[in-house]
Amino acid sequence: MTDPAGRSTLAEAPPTTGPTEADWAAAVTAVRAAVGGRILLICHVNPDGDALGSMLGFALGLRRMGVRQLQATFPGPMEVPDPFQGMPGLGLLVPEAEAYPDPDLVVCFDAASGSRLGSLADRLGNAVSVVLDHHASNTRFGGVQLVAPRAAATSVVVDELLTRLGVPLDAEIAECLYIALATDTGSFRFDMTTPAVHEMAARLLATGLKPGEISRQVFDTRPFGAIRLYGDVLGRAEFDPDAADGRGLVWTYATQDDLARYGQRPYVLEPLIDSVRCAAEADVSCVVKQVGPSEWAVSLRSKGDVDVSRVAVKLGGGGHRFAAGFTGRGSARDVVDAIGAELDDAVIDSDDQR
Ligand code: 5GP
Ligand code: MN
Repeated sequence: MTDPAGRSTLAEAPPTTGPTEADWAAAVTAVRAAVGGRILLICHVNPDGDALGSMLGFALGLRRMGVRQLQATFPGPMEVPDPFQGMPGLGLLVPEAEAYPDPDLVVCFDAASGSRLGSLADRLGNAVSVVLDHHASNTRFGGVQLVAPRAAATSVVVDELLTRLGVPLDAEIAECLYIALATDTGSFRFDMTTPAVHEMAARLLATGLKPGEISRQVFDTRPFGAIRLYGDVLGRAEFDPDAADGRGLVWTYATQDDLARYGQRPYVLEPLIDSVRCAAEADVSCVVKQVGPSEWAVSLRSKGDVDVSRVAVKLGGGGHRFAAGFTGRGSARDVVDAIGAELDDAVIDSDDQR
């Protein structure tokens, strides 16, 4: 859906749930005021396609506006997963240790809370800040908040802000935003894939993108070792039919030893949740990925009967109703037990179903 000015992919969101006109105006003012200054862009730890694509697409837009002092970063090791190695704008990335200590403007992408920015969250202290996000669980941190819980991806918010800043799409910006949009909509399969999302995708593709090549690189190319690793991890999946008040949970885990055995990096584990959640017998699915001796990054998915963001928020994380995550402690079994204990309460009453 577009307004008479031909913009607003967010038009379907009721105004109470998304940014107000005043929020958009404040964001435009903040960005315009910082064009001659130092601008620091930050996305969430372990960035996915939406986090990186939104951040780099916006970065390239700022370049087109004439911004010279510009950095993009995220917390943790500055390792870009192989699927995103072809993304335009990667040259703007700097490790967090090199990020401006005192930027004039900070813009955050796809982070539901300040904690997702690690120690970079301190940059929000003294600078003007604009937060672009689409998580319902967003804690409303930062200065100007462009939080659109009904948006399919943070890149939808970026697209709108670039339009309002008068920055036209070009093929590089579009490629970043397309990767972001395709990632968060599960390649345009999820319910939030509205007509407006397809219209945005159409505008992006019209800049000359090659969706087949982009999809192959982003979704369909993994090292051979990862294929064998998937065999091990999927082979140990378990099904608990009683979980979530009888809706069922299917889950598995991957350890750092699993990665080492096949010489793989952690990013290769990300697509596993999409295989696990296929199980017809379970509404809820989960992959528990070891990130430290007793620390696990958890991916949760639901087919509709359970609000997994309730579980994730209870356990210190966040996300969306049907896709959420958190960091768990203890053994993999401890983490799954903790999830199991929260699942019954996260079953959505039929009255709440929309
Ligand atoms: P994924 O399973 O793809 O990593 O994440 C699913 C959703 O949950 C994403 O929207 C992601 O931002 C959110 N999420 C994943 N892990 C965490 C976490 O540790 N904390 C928070 N706040 N959100 C998370
Ligand atoms: Mn996102």
